[in-house]
Amino acid sequence: MSEIRDWKLVETNLGRSEQIPYEVAVLPIGATEAHNLHLPYGTDSYQVEAVAERACERAWQQGAEVLLLPTITVGVNENTLGFPWTLSYKPTTILQILRDTVSCLEQHRLMKLLILNGHGGNELKPFLRELFRETDVQIVLVDWWTVDPEGFETIFDEPGEHGGEMETSVMLHLRPELVEMERADEGATREPHFTGMKQGWAWIARPWDRLTYNSGVGNPRSATAEKGEQFVERCTSKIATLLVEMAHESLDDWYPYEAD
Ligand SMILES: [Zn+2]
Repeated sequence: MSEIRDWKLVETNLGRSEQIPYEVAVLPIGATEAHNLHLPYGTDSYQVEAVAERACERAWQQGAEVLLLPTITVGVNENTLGFPWTLSYKPTTILQILRDTVSCLEQHRLMKLLILNGHGGNELKPFLRELFRETDVQIVLVDWWTVDPEGFETIFDEPGEHGGEMETSVMLHLRPELVEMERADEGATREPHFTGMKQGWAWIARPWDRLTYNSGVGNPRSATAEKGEQFVERCTSKIATLLVEMAHESLDDWYPYEAD
C-alpha cells in the first residue's frame, strides 16, 4: 500500500490528484521568530503544520476530500525584529501572498479554503474583508490555539502567550528533540506606564525587545509533553469537524447558512 498521503499537496502527484475531487483547501501560516531561549524559531510553523496535518488526516478518514497546501513559514513580525534572526513579512506582503494563493485555487476551481493561523501577529481578518468581493473562494479563518478555550484554561496552570507553558508543552509533544528546557528563562515582562494598556483597552504593536527579556511571555517551567498532546488532540478534533462540515456544505447562494 502506498505511503503517499493524498490530502497533502507536496506529497501527492498529478496522477493521483487528477482522480480526486478536492473540496476544501487548508493553508497553514506560521512564523519564524525567537521563542524564549529554549524553543525553535520555527515553533509557530511546526505547531500549525502539525495541527493542520492531523486535522486533515482525520477529516480525510471521515470522507472529506481536503487538500493541505504548503505552510507559509514567515509571518508578520515587524515588532519582534529586535531579537536576532527573527524574520518578518509586512501585512501588505501577506495580503499579496494570500491573494495569489486564492487566485490559484480559483484557477483550479477549489472554492473553499480554511486558513489555519499559528501566530498571534498574523491578524488576518482584514484580508478576508479585503478579498471578499475579489474572489468567489469562500474563506474561513481559524487561529488554531483559540479553538478550545476550555482546554486552554484547564490543561495549563498558566498557558502564557509566547514560549510559555502552552507552546512549550506542545513542542515537547511534537518535537521534543528541539526543546532545550535548561536554557529557558521565566518569561517575565515589563509593565507599561499607560493605565489603558494595563487595563487592556489601549493597544500598541508591542516592541518585543522592550516588553520581554529574552522574547518569552509566560513561564514555561510547568510544561509537559502530556499537556501538549492533550491540547493538540482537542484542537485537532474540532478543526477536523469543521473541515468535514465545510466539505459537505454546498456552494449555493446561501453558503454557509440555511436557505429560506
Ligand atoms: Zn509562538
